[in-house]
Amino acid sequence: MSAPVTGLPVQDELPDRVGVLVLGAGLAGCAALLAAAEAGQYALLLEKTSQIGGSTVKSAGLSAFAGTDEQREQGIADDVELLRKDLLEVGRHRNDEALVDLYCEHQLETYRWLKAHGVRYGEIHAASGQSVARSHPTDTTAMLVSLLRAAGELGARIVFDTPARRLLTGPDSNGAIRVIGVEVDTPDGPREVLADAVVLATGGFSMDADLLTTFAPQLEHALRQGGAGNTGDGLKMAMSIGAGLRDTPYIKGTYGHYAAEHPDEDGTGILAVYKGAIAVNREGRRFVDESRNYKDLGDVALAQPGVTTWQIFDGRVMAHSNDEVPIYEFAGRERAGMLVRADSIAGLEERLALPEGSLQRTVRDYNAAARGERPDEFGRAHLSGGVGTAFPLEQAPFYAHPSGTVVLATYCGLTVDTRLRVLDWDGEPIPRLYAAGELVGGFHGAGYMTGTSIGKAGIFGRLVGTHAAAEESELEW
Ligand SMILES: Cc1cc2nc3c(=O)[nH]c(=O)nc-3n(C[C@H](O)[C@H](O)[C@H](O)COP(=O)(O)OP(=O)(O)OC[C@H]3O[C@@H](n4cnc5c(N)ncnc54)[C@H](O)[C@@H]3O)c2cc1C
Repeated sequence: MSAPVTGLPVQDELPDRVGVLVLGAGLAGCAALLAAAEAGQYALLLEKTSQIGGSTVKSAGLSAFAGTDEQREQGIADDVELLRKDLLEVGRHRNDEALVDLYCEHQLETYRWLKAHGVRYGEIHAASGQSVARSHPTDTTAMLVSLLRAAGELGARIVFDTPARRLLTGPDSNGAIRVIGVEVDTPDGPREVLADAVVLATGGFSMDADLLTTFAPQLEHALRQGGAGNTGDGLKMAMSIGAGLRDTPYIKGTYGHYAAEHPDEDGTGILAVYKGAIAVNREGRRFVDESRNYKDLGDVALAQPGVTTWQIFDGRVMAHSNDEVPIYEFAGRERAGMLVRADSIAGLEERLALPEGSLQRTVRDYNAAARGERPDEFGRAHLSGGVGTAFPLEQAPFYAHPSGTVVLATYCGLTVDTRLRVLDWDGEPIPRLYAAGELVGGFHGAGYMTGTSIGKAGIFGRLVGTHAAAEESELEW
């Protein structure tokens, strides 16, 4: 976040007891806080760091919704059945279908709820795993501020610099074990906050080397991005009281991150491949059908010699640069000196120090296939998923973006039911413990569609706040 955010319902003092206690001030937590407050609960959000946002405010801000006003205005035909089909296909049917249905059932009403709270969406684009364009870009910081201010007006509060470290459990009125609150770290030492329901919205673990090594050793050489506090705390706290896990084998990196240190790399990378670029390795050869899901591209790129690859494109692709959508902000990258540029493919090849003739041969073959003169080496027909038609790269100038694979989000996580109650290893709800956002497993299955992580955080965040707020108070106040 560039400028400090003001006007949030911040509180310094920690109360001893609340109705709904939300952990983590990303989209899932902020949506949960507001929904719980709208349901009439005394809701409190504890954030580990001194800022709102986690990975949400570092993200490209794309949400996957279907059947929206913006799509209609752009003439994009989409509906919830197509969204559902795409989600299951991208997830290779390993998804928890009940969670896919939950997303589909509540996506439009959540989109409307967010808009009613002032969230605005820009031009819709197609991206990974979408058979039609459904990535809705928004300013994520503005979105969280709107939600938190609205929650504040209803009496909800946020306390910063207060990491939760342990879930507290105790017997309910029937003697069964339930979650009764959390232990948190404060500058004055550990404190307990009791609650009728606890919502874990602490994000994933893209910034935790140990958990990544445990669950995704194949990503050892990948870059990492995410909120500074995203170290899997909620996952670990829930696992330590018996929560189950799903989808851990499917953690993947994302293709397109700038493959070197750069002050202007904001973490999103670019996906020029989805506007017509090709990807080549240090041998100057293509290695994949570039229209595939960027997670798959990330896997294949990691396996290339030397790991770093280049997205190669021309003036026609550059003409699709869009400053409002970080992954398509090609011109901004040129201004920041992140692109290598040349007037010819031979010149680009030389500047990248690729083997003589390699890139020229690769582009010649690709262009011939794009003109229909020969089959494409990797079967590429489209620009992204099933959208757009591949075209020859022939309009100077030519560009190269050094690109690597980055872990942006971890997607896998806690088992939950359709009320977003956390389930134990036997599939039984852990009483009064809820979860939403990136740390929820099961929804994505074996693959990921762009926009469904922010989408999941918003949709499930709102729902979890409502469900948690419905818990009856059993605490003896
Ligand atoms: C560079 C980048 C680009 C991305 N682009 C997109 C995109 O365009 N579309 C998309 O769908 N997804 C995208 N993602 C993924 C997406 O941003 C996240 O999955 C999503 O925002 C997660 O939201 P969340 O609310 O679950 O978690 P977060 O937004 O990460 O929030 C979690 C919060 O919990 C806090 N926290 C952690 N531990 C504790 C604790 N112990 N106690 C209290 N608080 C705690 C953290 O500090 C953080 O503030 C991107 C991610 C990155 C990094």
